[in-house]
Amino acid sequence: MNLTDNITTDTDYDVIVIGSGIGGLVTATQLAAKGAKVLVLERYLIPGGSAGYFEREGYRFDVGASMIFGFGTKGTTNLLTRALKAVNMSLDTIPDPVQIHYHLPDGLDLKVHRDYEKFIEELTRHFPHEKEGIRRFYDECWKVFNCLNAMELLSLEEPRYLMRVFFQHPGACLGLVKYLPQNTGDVARRYISDPKLLKFIDMECYCWSVVPANQTPMINAGMVFSDRHYGGINYPRGGVGQIAQKLVDGLEKSGSEIKYQSRVTQILLKNGKAVGVKLANGQEYYAKRIVSNATRWDTFEKLISPATLPTQERKWQKRYHKSPSFLSLHLGVKAEVLPPNTECHHILLENWQQMEDEQGTIFVSIPTLLDPNLAPQGHHIIHAFTPSWIKHWQGLTPKDYQQKKEEAAGRIIERLEQILPGISQGLDYQEVGTPRTHRRFLGRVDGTYGPIPRYKLPGLLTMPFNRTSISGLYCVGDSTFPGQGLNAVAFSGFACGHRIGVDLGL
Ligand SMILES: Cc1cc2nc3c(=O)[nH]c(=O)nc-3n(C[C@H](O)[C@H](O)[C@H](O)COP(=O)(O)OP(=O)(O)OC[C@H]3O[C@@H](n4cnc5c(N)ncnc54)[C@H](O)[C@@H]3O)c2cc1C
Repeated sequence: MNLTDNITTDTDYDVIVIGSGIGGLVTATQLAAKGAKVLVLERYLIPGGSAGYFEREGYRFDVGASMIFGFGTKGTTNLLTRALKAVNMSLDTIPDPVQIHYHLPDGLDLKVHRDYEKFIEELTRHFPHEKEGIRRFYDECWKVFNCLNAMELLSLEEPRYLMRVFFQHPGACLGLVKYLPQNTGDVARRYISDPKLLKFIDMECYCWSVVPANQTPMINAGMVFSDRHYGGINYPRGGVGQIAQKLVDGLEKSGSEIKYQSRVTQILLKNGKAVGVKLANGQEYYAKRIVSNATRWDTFEKLISPATLPTQERKWQKRYHKSPSFLSLHLGVKAEVLPPNTECHHILLENWQQMEDEQGTIFVSIPTLLDPNLAPQGHHIIHAFTPSWIKHWQGLTPKDYQQKKEEAAGRIIERLEQILPGISQGLDYQEVGTPRTHRRFLGRVDGTYGPIPRYKLPGLLTMPFNRTSISGLYCVGDSTFPGQGLNAVAFSGFACGHRIGVDLGL
């Protein structure tokens, strides 16, 4: 909507950020650290979005993310450590010795150890005839990571930064330019031919990109497949919700603010430029720059009139569509259910044909193995989730919806028996979330995990940066470069904060 000229657009704030996901909070704290006056407007009661938490009967459950990258102590890719540090905050983290314990078809049971050589050895034991290919593929991922980890990660839309970083690290920059349009599957196929091993590489990608390797950008794979052995996977003590909470503490200490239960319903435009926002209660706020941490679909189809969908967004929607959401099972279980030496994160799939199907792959996270204080003594948390599309949960009566949830939960628990025998006997608490729950509590259209390519795209080349075709409006989070995951959206937040900082002369 365009404001008429007689409405005042005096700005109280330098920047308004819609949403307090990790992308939004990193943008806000980066700008607050530069001296900007920032207002974050969050529709929910607490910050964090998909990196939030909820408490029930003595359990503290992570709503989504729990395998956390970006908490390393060295290099430049430890973006969560750096984001907290920018506002004088830090978090105590617990190292996870194994990223994932895979339980895959045909008895392919293996662990991704924090120690790179131990992982390569274990994978090679399953595929001895591919010894050289395995080494060459994962070593190539390191090349991508080493390029990224050599330079400060800021806005690729800022020419002076690009020049500076190019002169400082010409080799690394050229390396990244080479990998930017590549997909992981193509690189894997250069070195590996065993179909079962290629399926494994598909799963290595799918479990965070929700697409197989041939649609997963090589830049993202380089980050994930190397950083897990470099900075490692580290769980924040007190739960994942602590990350957002600490960022908010830092934001407020830097003189900026966050308001909860503040649902933005409209981005206000004046002469085609974003100048403010309107809340559900009618309150309006104005700022020099507006940032949306909502998904691109929510931003351009709900907060701005869909009739004026910019051409650039139309193009984007032709390339990317919504990934499924998840069916989430949050369980409290008796400690004896877990066999000795159980790892924190598991992936379970019985049939390769079903990897991408509705409720095919199961992801399991048991964070109390790292931080026992998240559950009452003698108990553990198990978060089991599996991809699910909202269409399967719509048009049901409340009774049918409830029944469908219970049946789906029963099926997941039955499948979990394969890796946690006796789990059904050890249940103490159970809560089921569907794509409708994700939509409602995370404010994400259809509860989607994020955008995925509709077809094979040239790597990350077509993923938009933070500026949009509407002047004064920026996007941040998982529907911007480089995509999903906490460390990725933190990257997007650093870039967004940097670009706006330059635009405002901070
Ligand atoms: C089940 C699940 C498991 C996951 N596991 C992992 C994992 O192990 N490791 C990992 O790194 N990543 C994981 N992820 C992905 C990761 O959580 C997300 O990619 C990331 O948190 C997204 O951050 P974001 O900043 O883009 O936005 P979000 O987290 O979506 O936050 C956006 C915020 O904006 C608010 N908002 C939206 N619209 C409005 C509005 N109109 N007005 C006001 N506020 C609004 C929302 O309430 C929300 O707080 C997982 C995600 C899910 C769902």
